[in-house]
Amino acid sequence: MMKTTCLITALMMSAVSTSLAAQVSTDILIKNGYVMPLKPGSEDLPDHDILIHKGQIAAVGTNLSVTGRKVINAHGKFVLPGFVDTHSHLWVTTMRGQFRNNDGKFFPVSNQLGARMQPDDIYISMYIGAVELLSGGITSSGDFFDNIKGPAWGDAGLKALKDAGIRAVMYYGGPDKSTKSPIDMDHLLSLAQTPDDRIKLGLGWRLPRDLNDEQNWAMREKEFSLAKKHNLPVQVHVSGDADAMFNALIKRNFLNSSLTVVHTTDATKQQLMALKKSGGSLALTPISEQRVGYGLTRLDHFSTLTRKGLGIDGNSLAGSGDMFATLRLIALTLSGATKDETQPDARQLLELATWHGADTLGLSAVTGSLEQGKRADIQIIDPDALNMSGFGGGDPAALIVYSARPENVTTVIVDGSIVKQDGRMQIQDEGLLKRRANESARRLLSTSE
Ligand SMILES: [Zn+2]
Repeated sequence: MMKTTCLITALMMSAVSTSLAAQVSTDILIKNGYVMPLKPGSEDLPDHDILIHKGQIAAVGTNLSVTGRKVINAHGKFVLPGFVDTHSHLWVTTMRGQFRNNDGKFFPVSNQLGARMQPDDIYISMYIGAVELLSGGITSSGDFFDNIKGPAWGDAGLKALKDAGIRAVMYYGGPDKSTKSPIDMDHLLSLAQTPDDRIKLGLGWRLPRDLNDEQNWAMREKEFSLAKKHNLPVQVHVSGDADAMFNALIKRNFLNSSLTVVHTTDATKQQLMALKKSGGSLALTPISEQRVGYGLTRLDHFSTLTRKGLGIDGNSLAGSGDMFATLRLIALTLSGATKDETQPDARQLLELATWHGADTLGLSAVTGSLEQGKRADIQIIDPDALNMSGFGGGDPAALIVYSARPENVTTVIVDGSIVKQDGRMQIQDEGLLKRRANESARRLLSTSE
């Protein structure tokens, strides 16, 4: 019986994954697009070409030669860096529609269903979640993987991210959210030893649930210092007892440039200043923060920090893995709260979702803008759609922020490999993938009390 299950799993994994994973990067020329480099201070480049060589942006210019290159005609389209999702939990993707369903709250429901997940369930959930992010132009994700009940769970998640073709920092977390058990640092460090161009490892760290529990602090400090010793980036949630948590981070000297603090919706000016001084960064996830009732995610509250980005925080908790929806929510929250329709600036929002997102994850040398020397993480948005029609010209930033949707992203390239083309994910059998995800989701529910 066990053998049959493993065989089915192996077949399933290969059937859904080989297509994206097997992408071989060739020289690609994106021709005549409206190029938006989105590096802060940079200008848009109408009718420009981008040459991709060995996965890297080799040139951005005009009239680049097409000889021997795969040409993507981008005339009339917007060419942007891929979005960077600074904080997610892709393993909850197969819990879609279960939160606030019959009063089910996110934490108890995800804890209960998450406890039943086997490595196969982790794989399919993270894989389809990453594919969804990619299809909407998100090319990088900081995935906080906090359902690792043993090495096989960690391996399954890492394989899912690799197979999906996304760029990621996988923040390796504990077996659940209780903070009772230690994180398997040996396994994390062994995974981190194998270099991978696209997937980096980090620590998905948590503070003790009881901040007065010195025994638990000793365990947490050990994890933190090991991560530091091995130069691994760290993410930590600051929510719930957020004020005391942030103060503990400051008092115990945990703030540093490798640490990304997540949420901290009501942080004080002093706390944010301490984070800024340390060189640390912040991940804001407006949809989930508002959905679970942390408060309104007001961008002006965090204006002192430049190292900040936007995140999805789990496709099912956010409803979908949609950066455009995230941009709209954070924009409308600010203009509504300030009663000022000029806030925030649409272009700065796009930079927040790209360049600043990459900076937040420590990846700004690699991705987040379209410039020579960076890896080719690119999305092309085709405005030839009902929801984007009627645009007469001018700066397209507001059009993209307020009108675009994931389905308008027709081409997605990660590390020089095309993962979406002509509006279709380059995957062998999307139907099979969805069926497997639904089967796994049903299995998790069927064993619920
Ligand atoms: Zn989170």
